[in-house]
Amino acid sequence: MNLPPNALWIDQDDYDVRGFSHGLYIDGRWRPSSDGRVIGVVDPSSGSVIAAVPDATLDDALAAVDAAAKAATAWRETAPRKRSEILRRCFELMVERSETLAMLISLENGKALRDARGEVAYAAEFFRWNAEEAVRITGEFGTAPSGTNRIVVDYEPIGICVLITPWNFPAAMATRKIAPALAAGCTVILKPASETPLTAYALAALYSEAGVPAGVVNVLTTTSPGPLTSAMLADPRVRKLSFTGSTGVGRTLLGEAAKHVVSCSMELGGNAPFVVFDDADLDAALDGAMIAKMRNAGEACTAANRIYVQSGIHDAFADGLRERMAALKVGPGMSADTECGPMITRKAVDKIDRLVKDAVGRGAKVLCGGSIPEEEGFFYPPTVLSQVSPDADMAHEEIFGPVAPITRFETEAEAIMHANNTEYGLAAYIYTRDVGRGLRVASRIEAGMIGLNRGLMSDPAAPFGGVKQSGLGREGGQHHGIAEFMEAKYIAVTF
Ligand code: NAD
Repeated sequence: MNLPPNALWIDQDDYDVRGFSHGLYIDGRWRPSSDGRVIGVVDPSSGSVIAAVPDATLDDALAAVDAAAKAATAWRETAPRKRSEILRRCFELMVERSETLAMLISLENGKALRDARGEVAYAAEFFRWNAEEAVRITGEFGTAPSGTNRIVVDYEPIGICVLITPWNFPAAMATRKIAPALAAGCTVILKPASETPLTAYALAALYSEAGVPAGVVNVLTTTSPGPLTSAMLADPRVRKLSFTGSTGVGRTLLGEAAKHVVSCSMELGGNAPFVVFDDADLDAALDGAMIAKMRNAGEACTAANRIYVQSGIHDAFADGLRERMAALKVGPGMSADTECGPMITRKAVDKIDRLVKDAVGRGAKVLCGGSIPEEEGFFYPPTVLSQVSPDADMAHEEIFGPVAPITRFETEAEAIMHANNTEYGLAAYIYTRDVGRGLRVASRIEAGMIGLNRGLMSDPAAPFGGVKQSGLGREGGQHHGIAEFMEAKYIAVTF
């Protein structure tokens, strides 16, 4: 491993990444799992095991709930200004250590360093934004329509929260939940993806240094997420489940949460359409497509998964996209000039390969890429397909890789029909110079977020989330994100 001498973990006495041992972080202390088992962490660029983290047991998960419960009262009673200052310090420490954190993300996730740097900046912003939100939680006061009493509404922290996050943004998906939960006055248990646990543990050490008290944030990794999550949700002290991941797992967890009527926020899968009209600015549309498709090498829930291009601009757009995609430098995430890193696992590469073969079998044309390279690591080349049938599997499943499937369309109605022909509704992109058409199409596309002449929409200051089977609730935004971690309490007052 080629890591800088000031690496974050070197200051941690009982936490030594170089020795490849990590603790569960429970009640402000690092500990092994109660049965001593560990999970290997793999570098996707080489396929080698680079670290081991504890494989938490049911006892460990319940110990984390105990720790969160023990810390809950003091944290909810901590003055908002004090909570705000601690969150602000988390932001500052993340910014100070952004290069180290970016290297760690790149190492365990495989993403290109430039993407990892972007992720750290985005992840840190959730602390800055929620430090500002923590002191702006207000209630309501009014007179009942009958005139007999006053209505007082107070917003209280919802209680102990279980947070579950995926591997594709190991820092940002965690801070997007932890920062608003802490701002609202909640204590949490984070279960990061076992593919990318190192970032979550490194950040846990940073929160502690920033002044987050013991037990307010607990982190555990496990290869048995189902049973451990069920046990935590069955504990009546747990009142919230905030999940980011696939729609399939989200459905299962909604069922588990329903058994105990636990509040759920769900950030699930996507199948974003990217619609280019004849009157679009070609270069802007190509720039946008490269961002929407290739940020994180296509491993993003908002990734353009289906590209619909109107006939008049189709050939020029397909040519331009092929040229840009074929020119991308593929390599290990940690190499300075890499633009497209490896996929997370061999299984992910095999899924992409299956989807490409299916599309080609249904008549798609390969403009570049299209086959698994020989080298070690979990690589798939940037690929452009044209004439992709709307019936192809990739039009209905997340590709989650560097494959851009282009389908031609003729009319606005046809583009909207294609865009909505999916169970998902997370993100969509529209390119047109006609703002009226852009807004009209945006209002007809079933998605929680639209990029109108933009290939990137993620912003802590805007509500992120999906409709249909892409999720429930919003993260970020002026009040949306923090509201997911609060309950309204109504007090009827006579005086
Ligand atoms: P995943 O659903 O397989 O796993 C997500 C998390 O859930 C991981 O921590 C995993 O260990 C855990 N998990 C798996 N099975 C579980 C169970 N039975 N009980 C409890 N936890 C369980 O998803 P992934 O492969 O890690 O991530 C990719 C998916 O996440 C894609 O579908 C992507 O679109 C989605 N995603 C959505 C957003 C969003 O904001 N909407 C953001 C990032 C990723």
